[in-house]
Amino acid sequence: MRSENRPLHYLCNVFYMKLYRRYILYIGICLGLLTSPFCSGSAEAKDFVVVIDAGHGGHDPGAIGKISKEKNINLNVALKLGKQIQKNCPDVKVVYTRTRDVFIPLNRRAEIANDAKADLFISIHTNALANNRTAKGASTWTLGLAKSDANLEVAKRENSVILYESDYKTRYAGFNPNSAESYIIFEFMQDKYMSQSVHLASLVQKHFRNTCRRVDRGVHQAGFLVLKASAMPSILVELGFISTPEEERYLNTDAGTTTLANGIFRAFLTYKREQEIRLNGSSQTILPEDIPQPEEEATASTGAASKTEKKAAGQSGKPTPQRSEKAAVAQTEDNAPVFKIQILTSSRPLAKNDKRLKGLKNVDYYKEGGLYKYTYGASSDYNKVLRTKRSITAQFKDAFIIAFKNGKKVNVNAAVNEFKNKKK
Ligand SMILES: [Zn+2]
Repeated sequence: MRSENRPLHYLCNVFYMKLYRRYILYIGICLGLLTSPFCSGSAEAKDFVVVIDAGHGGHDPGAIGKISKEKNINLNVALKLGKQIQKNCPDVKVVYTRTRDVFIPLNRRAEIANDAKADLFISIHTNALANNRTAKGASTWTLGLAKSDANLEVAKRENSVILYESDYKTRYAGFNPNSAESYIIFEFMQDKYMSQSVHLASLVQKHFRNTCRRVDRGVHQAGFLVLKASAMPSILVELGFISTPEEERYLNTDAGTTTLANGIFRAFLTYKREQEIRLNGSSQTILPEDIPQPEEEATASTGAASKTEKKAAGQSGKPTPQRSEKAAVAQTEDNAPVFKIQILTSSRPLAKNDKRLKGLKNVDYYKEGGLYKYTYGASSDYNKVLRTKRSITAQFKDAFIIAFKNGKKVNVNAAVNEFKNKKK
């Protein structure tokens, strides 16, 4: 019950943190004006914040299966999802509501998201049916009025975690998670994030279906307290049924939780990219290779370059392998970013004469997310790599430029900026 003492300290800390942050921000702006040639006046000062909420925890086990508890499955997938995002999206801040097996009150979860000024809230749960009923598949939920008793049942089960909180009656204003009447509040509720939430939910289902090969139980609405209190687009994922032995076994394998986390990750990337394009006209977010990518992908920030590049691509002939470039893979002395062209992705290493490589010599690969990602060319001269890319566009129309720094993949637009600024 140490948490009882927390609010005051917590508020103080928040207050000082805010002051401190404002101070840092002020210094940052001054320094930025003085020195930063990157300052393009873009609206990207704030990073994208995603809150990942592993449902249940501590003395609240969530649904209980024959061999496992929901809280642990949720946490496994939540941590894997967060790791994927942190690894691939340097511009995204990942905030977890929990990273361990601890109990977090429902309203505290939403509070964490609101305090973090999150752009997205993803709550991860595992479904269950009572009375030995079995069902299969994953579903994604957004806030709304349950249209069926089955939907209401899911919300009731997830909301009843508040019964683990001693003061739930006052904290949730008399809300009784097991009484249908309590759900009337969801009927008149206005949710301004509804369409974004539903869109993200449908992207998650699309990837559960296509990428993860899970049974698609669709997008639904119901009155989830945790989604109601979070002031941002929010979804609640039900990964599968812990009450169905086959699904429970799958949810307890490393492959199962990795696959599901990857599915949500891909939906997240698509959502983020679409939002950036809507807001800024371009996006730094690179989609996984199985999603068709527009030609402008990696060059969005270079503006005029992309148009001429596209034109040139149409006229280009057959690939002109440039052997000498392979040598440039080694890190340059001044830690300049190294640009490469990603041409394709494979789940296993390809033989040198694999027909997917279309005769291209001197290809290289790096491993990411369990995939072999094949690249061609390598240079710290972005323009050179851009020219090389044009020369192979006819063969690899989905090829795009990526960047590495100190052997690590980095945000390509930041790398292009660095390159451009060094040239000045
Ligand atoms: Zn749950």
